Amino acid sequence: MQCSQTNSVDLKKLDKFDIKLFELLYSSSKSKTEVSQKEIDEVKEWLEISKTSIRLTNPMVQLFVKLKTIKENHGATPKDIGIDKDELYLMAIKHKRTDEHAVSVGGRVYSALPIAKTANARVQNYLNNHKKDAPSGFDLQKQIKRNRKKIQEKLKMSDEDWDSYGGQIKYAIRSGEQLAQILDIPQKLIDDIQRVVGVFRMRISPYYASLIMPNVVNDPILIQSVPTGDMIDNKGINIEPVASDHSPARLIDQFYPRVLTIKATNMCAMFCTYCLRLDHISDKDWVSSKNTYEEALNYIRGNTTVRDVLITGGDALALSNKRLEYLFEELDKIPHVKIKRIGSRIPVMTPQRIDDKFLEICAKSNAIKPLRFVTQINTPQEMTPEVHEAFKKLSKVTSAILNQSVLLRGVNDTQNKMWKLVELLQESYIRPYYLFNCSFRNPEFGHLRVPISVGRDLVESMYGNIAGDAIPRYLATAGGKIPLHRDNVSQVNEGSDYILKKPWDGTEVSYPDMSMEEYNKPFSFDKYK
Ligand SMILES: *Cc1c(COP(=O)(O)O)cnc(C)c1O
Ligand code: SF4
Repeated sequence: MQCSQTNSVDLKKLDKFDIKLFELLYSSSKSKTEVSQKEIDEVKEWLEISKTSIRLTNPMVQLFVKLKTIKENHGATPKDIGIDKDELYLMAIKHKRTDEHAVSVGGRVYSALPIAKTANARVQNYLNNHKKDAPSGFDLQKQIKRNRKKIQEKLKMSDEDWDSYGGQIKYAIRSGEQLAQILDIPQKLIDDIQRVVGVFRMRISPYYASLIMPNVVNDPILIQSVPTGDMIDNKGINIEPVASDHSPARLIDQFYPRVLTIKATNMCAMFCTYCLRLDHISDKDWVSSKNTYEEALNYIRGNTTVRDVLITGGDALALSNKRLEYLFEELDKIPHVKIKRIGSRIPVMTPQRIDDKFLEICAKSNAIKPLRFVTQINTPQEMTPEVHEAFKKLSKVTSAILNQSVLLRGVNDTQNKMWKLVELLQESYIRPYYLFNCSFRNPEFGHLRVPISVGRDLVESMYGNIAGDAIPRYLATAGGKIPLHRDNVSQVNEGSDYILKKPWDGTEVSYPDMSMEEYNKPFSFDKYK
C-alpha cells in the first residue's frame, strides 16, 4: 500500500543536513534495545506539538533531537516506534520555512548543536576551575578585607590615610621587617629581603600588600612585589639599557617614526621585581624641572613626523596633577601631535590616585585630542572592586584603556590564569593589548622568565574560546617591539592555495587566494561610462 501523503512531500525542499539526519535516523543497526514507553510518549508528544504549533521551531528541534537520541541509544528507527516518515519530512520542511534564516532542522540537530557542544567542552575546565586556579581580587574579597584590617592596625594607619595616594606612599612597606609585621613570612625570607634591599629598592603600598594571600607559597602578588635573593644571586651579564641608542633628546625615547615616549619621571608607587627599567628606577626618586620638560617638548615641537606621544616613566601618575595638566596642555597645542597616551600601573597598585582632579584633566585633554590610558595588570588577583571602579571612571574620560601584561612564571603562565586575566580586564573596561615575554636583559629577574613557546600556546589557546578583542598580541622587547605569534598560515602552491590552521583544535582548512594575475588586471568604474 502506498502512503497517501508521499506525493505532497517535496523532498527537494530538504537540504543536505536534513538528508544526512534522515539517513542517520533510518540507518540499520546491528543490535537494538528496547525503547521505553516513556520515551516513545515523549517523542509523540513533541510530534503533536510540532504539528499544531505556529511559528515555533523549538518543538521540531526537540522532536528530532529525541529521535536522534533514541537511534543512538537503542538503534531504533522512527518506524520502529511507530512514527510516520512523511510526517517527519513535513516537519523538516515546516522548520525550514519557519526559521528566519531558512536553517534546516537537520542543520540544527545534525551539525550546529554538536558543534556548540564541542565548543562548550573546550571551556569547561576553565569554568570549573578558574576560582581555584586563578582567584581574582573579587573572589578573594573576604580575605583581602581581613588583610586590610590587620595592616591598618599594625601600621597604625587611619582610613583617611588608606584612602589617599599620599597615605599609601607614606606608609609603603620598604623592608623585610615591616613586611614580617603584616605577613607571616619565614625568617629566611626576611633575611633574604634585607640582603636585597641594600641593592634594589622595595616599596609596596599597603593596599597592594593587602592583596597578598597568607600561606600561599607562590602568591602572584608576592612574586611581583617582594624582591628575593635571586635578584642578586642570579648569574648572568646585565645588558646595557638601550636608552642611549634611542634617546634623541632629554627624557625622550624614540624607536619609531610616528610615536615616541617622554619618560617624565623615574618614580613608581612600587618597584616591580621584573622591571625592565630596574637601573633607572632603583636610583633615588627624581622629578624634573619645567625646563627639562621644555627641552623634551621642543624636540617634539620640531619633529613633525611624530603624531602620538606616550607620557611614561617610571610611572606617569607619580607626577602631580598639575604637572600632567601642563604636559597635556602643551602637547595639545602642537598641531602634528594628534593623539596621546599616558602609561601607568598606579591604578593597580594604588587606585586611590585616580582622583576627581585627574579625571577632570583627562576629560579636558581627551576632548581636544584622543587620550589613551596604558596600564599593566598581570594577574586576576590584581582585579579588585577598587581597581574596577578606578578604570570605570577612567573609561569615561579617555578614548581607550589598554593593558600590557608581562608573562611571568608563577603569576600568569597557565591557561586558566591568562584566560581569567583577559576576561576580567575586558569586564573592567580595559582592552588587553600586549603580552610581553619577560626580557633576558636583566639576569636579576631571570628566574621569572617563561619560554617563548609557553606564551605562544597561551595566546593561541584563546583564539576561538575568548572574545577576539580580549586577545593580546604577544611580543618581545629587544630594541623595539617584535611580534612572537606562531604562524597559522602555510602556503601549499605558490600564489594559490593556503592552508590555515585553527588554533583551537589544530584542524586545517584550505583557503584559496586571490590570484596575483587577477589582482593586477585593471579595475575601474569607467566601464559603466
Ligand atoms: C612601546 C613603545 C612605544 C609604543 O609602541 P606601540 O607599539 O605603538 O604601542 C613607543 N616608543 C617606545 C620607546 C616604546 O617603548
Ligand atoms: S610600575 Fe613599571 S616602571 Fe615602575 S617598577 Fe613596575 S614595571 Fe617598573
